[in-house]
Amino acid sequence: MEMIGIIGGSGLYNIGLENSREIEIETPFGNPSDKIIVGELKGVKFAFLPRHGRGHRIMPSEINYRANIYALKSLGVKRILSISAVGSMKEEISPGCLVLPDQFIDFTKMRENTFFGDGIVAHVSMAEPVCPSFFEIIRKVILSRGYPLKEGGTYICIEGPQFSTKAESFLWRSMGVDVIGMTNMPEAKLAREAEMCYVTLALATDYDCWHQVEEAVSVESIIKILNENVEKSKDIVRSIPDFLEQINICECENSLKYAIITDPKIIPSEKKTSLKPIIGKYLD
Ligand SMILES: [Zn+2]
Repeated sequence: MEMIGIIGGSGLYNIGLENSREIEIETPFGNPSDKIIVGELKGVKFAFLPRHGRGHRIMPSEINYRANIYALKSLGVKRILSISAVGSMKEEISPGCLVLPDQFIDFTKMRENTFFGDGIVAHVSMAEPVCPSFFEIIRKVILSRGYPLKEGGTYICIEGPQFSTKAESFLWRSMGVDVIGMTNMPEAKLAREAEMCYVTLALATDYDCWHQVEEAVSVESIIKILNENVEKSKDIVRSIPDFLEQINICECENSLKYAIITDPKIIPSEKKTSLKPIIGKYLD
C-alpha cells in the first residue's frame, strides 16, 4: 500500500493520524527537520514531517531539504503534499484563500539543491514541477470542502528570513507571480530528483508589502487567518483518502530515466550506496 507524505508548514505540527508512531531517521545528508510521524487515516498510510520542526525552531535557510525528502523516500512515500503559508501577490488572492501553484521561481541563494554531485551528474526536467495527477486529487478535495481556491499560479521562493522590500515586492509583481514563500524551493526540485509526485498547497495569510492595505492589518488578524488555515489544512488532509482511488498514472516515478548523464561504471561506489533509495533501480 502506498504512503502519502505531508510536509507541514508554519503552525501545522500534527494532523491527527491514527495508530501513529514516531520514526527517527538519519540520512546520508544529515537529519530531517524532526521525527516523522507515520500513521493512518481511513485506511491510507501517511507520513507527516513538520518542516520547521515541532515548535518552529528551524528557519527556511536552515531546513535540511535533502534529508527531509530522502527520509520520506526511504519510508516508501510516493507522493508529497507540501503545505505552506504564503504571502499573496495578487489582489484576488485574499488572506485565507487557498492556492495550488503549478509553477515556481527559485530565488533562493544559499541552499543545497541537489542529491547529485561528487562524481554523479543528473539533470532532471523542472518544466512542469507539479504532479498533474496528484494536483487533480488535491483540487477535488479542496472543492469538495468548499474552500476558496485559486487553481494554478506561480510561487516565488525567496531566501528570507526577512520579508521583501517594497522594491522587491513590486519586482515580483511585475514578474506575474501569484504567491511568495521561503520554503518550497529546493524542496520541489529534490522531490523531482527523488522521483516523487509533488504538490504544493499554499495558504495565503496576508498580502505582501506591495499592497496598500497591508499596514492597516493587525497582527491578531494575521494570526487568526494562520490558525484558520491550519484547520483547513488538516481538514483537507483528512479528506485525501476519499479521492485517492481516482488518481491517474503519472510520469513522476520515471523522472531520472534519462537524467543521469554519468556512465554507471564510473559512479563512485559510496554515491551508489548513499543514493540507493533514489537511483538504485537504475544501477541493476
Ligand atoms: Zn506524479
